[in-house]
Amino acid sequence: MLFLLHYEGRLNNVGDLKKKPYYIFLHYTYPFHSVALGVLLYVVGGLPFLVWGMAIRMVYMVHVTFSINSICHTWGTQVWDTGDSSRNNWLFGLLAHGEGWHNNHHAFDYSARQGLEWWQIDTTWYLIRFLQALGLATEVKLPTEAQKKRKALYNKVINKKEKLGTVGNNGKLQAVK
Ligand SMILES: [Zn+2]
Repeated sequence: MLFLLHYEGRLNNVGDLKKKPYYIFLHYTYPFHSVALGVLLYVVGGLPFLVWGMAIRMVYMVHVTFSINSICHTWGTQVWDTGDSSRNNWLFGLLAHGEGWHNNHHAFDYSARQGLEWWQIDTTWYLIRFLQALGLATEVKLPTEAQKKRKALYNKVINKKEKLGTVGNNGKLQAVK
């Protein structure tokens, strides 16, 4: 029962979820769900189901999740002015079901959608859209166009160069010497 005490300490920033009995139930019974899934997999398919469904799945999930905070802060592209090292990395966009669009995530941490461009594959977002269509997901938050404009790194570069007088009469950027 010690884990219950441990859990309680992390509940100070989710006031809205604390009011919903369903999420409170999930929160406090979560470890039992994992055990029940393991038992179910073993009953249905024996040891191979248990190994693939629990051990290998967890190793994959943990490695990909931790890679987001290392690889996606090292390799990839930045399109938003987040003031940090977060990067959009297409490979981890695929492997982590959208979370690899990590510069997007840092720019708009409230956004349900991480792959903000149509070509940025984000399977979590597709699932949320599906749940939304069924009426099971509501109040889904996305960044507005105005918020995107404010955060765009490109705009910041343009503004900076305009101040420095390096934007030509034709509106195009000139090389900074
Ligand atoms: Zn990060």
